[in-house]
Amino acid sequence: MADKPKPARKAAPTGKPAGQQARKPAAAGQPSKAVAARPKGGEVATPAPEGYQSLIEPRTGLAELLAPVGGFGVTLSNMFRKTVTEQYPSEKVPAKPRYHGRHQLNRYADGLEKCIGCELCAWACPADAIYVEGGDNTPDAQFSPGERYGRVYQINYLRCIFCGLCIEACPTRALTMTNEYELAGPTRAGMIWEKEDLLAPLREGMLAAPHPMVEGTTHTDYYRGEITHATDAQRAWVAEHRPDDPTLPGGAGLDVANELAPTAAAMAATVAAATKQGSR
Ligand code: SF4
Repeated sequence: MADKPKPARKAAPTGKPAGQQARKPAAAGQPSKAVAARPKGGEVATPAPEGYQSLIEPRTGLAELLAPVGGFGVTLSNMFRKTVTEQYPSEKVPAKPRYHGRHQLNRYADGLEKCIGCELCAWACPADAIYVEGGDNTPDAQFSPGERYGRVYQINYLRCIFCGLCIEACPTRALTMTNEYELAGPTRAGMIWEKEDLLAPLREGMLAAPHPMVEGTTHTDYYRGEITHATDAQRAWVAEHRPDDPTLPGGAGLDVANELAPTAAAMAATVAAATKQGSR
């Protein structure tokens, strides 16, 4: 015997406003999404459910009157503050002293290079941005104290993340980072900086490498910082092997010598100008 059909159950009141009452289940094949009934034209917004209490305290009196223009208070208060806009690039703000900018390959006080081509910086680099090839120093071509020097040195600034792990790895403090941050370039190839771009400019008292070490010293004396300038014997050696060297006394001068490394010299000038500007 077939079951007697049950009478339809009347929906229990939910306490919700008329527009939010649960709708009838959709018939088979119909979308089941419950859609709130739209208020008819002219109806006001649905009142808050019974028992609902807003945490926003209602404004009264003058506060209610000024509320529409209250948002302009932030604008007005900022109009009279000191401007913080930086006029870059016409005015360059110096970076913080420990800022990680582009690298520099340093020299000893007599002009010999500090890099010994050990490749530790390349191994330490997490971005594989550094490429080093070491070479042997010879009596005719001594570029750094000791046996080895960095024959090829490249940093790919498309890869470098300026983490500074390379300068931590360097055993001779040959590699350090400057505050220079203007490193954009028009070509990808130009973003690979060579040794000539990274070498520190020659300063007063230095002789361009290669030349022999200071007579009677070892590489340990160099590491200890006991070399303070180039000696007469070193100058005589350079005069004999490179009479036209601009770093010799009476030569074309340090500016001409540094033109061989124009990037490093230009960077040094930029940093000096920025530092001067910052100290005003
Ligand atoms: S920069 Fe320092 S770590 Fe890198 S190859 Fe030269 S000496 Fe070694």
